[in-house]
Amino acid sequence: MSFHNYGSTDVSRCPLCSKSALAKTKAGISVCKDHTSFEFPDLKCTCKESMSLKEGRYGPFCLCSRCGIMNLRKALEVNNVNLTSFNTNKQEILVDAKNAHLFGLR
Ligand SMILES: [Zn+2]
Ligand SMILES: [Zn+2]
Repeated sequence: MSFHNYGSTDVSRCPLCSKSALAKTKAGISVCKDHTSFEFPDLKCTCKESMSLKEGRYGPFCLCSRCGIMNLRKALEVNNVNLTSFNTNKQEILVDAKNAHLFGLR
């Protein structure tokens, strides 16, 4: 018995920096080993509904009860979470209740 795998490498990417996601956050979201302490903020859909963060077979994604699945990177983008800040060697920025306003999340 064999499965066709369409050349998939089966390595998911960190949604924050696109490195190989070989580790997980406390919430169980696949990230690279540099971002295991990152806490994802509450993400809102473009329809203003809050989305839940899920870990699927192909990596993390967001689920809106009205619109369905949204790519996590896209969700971070529409929530104005600045991903470019995670691609540098600067200290990583944690989004929490204190600084969420910086990300337009409130
Ligand atoms: Zn990362
Ligand atoms: Zn929605």
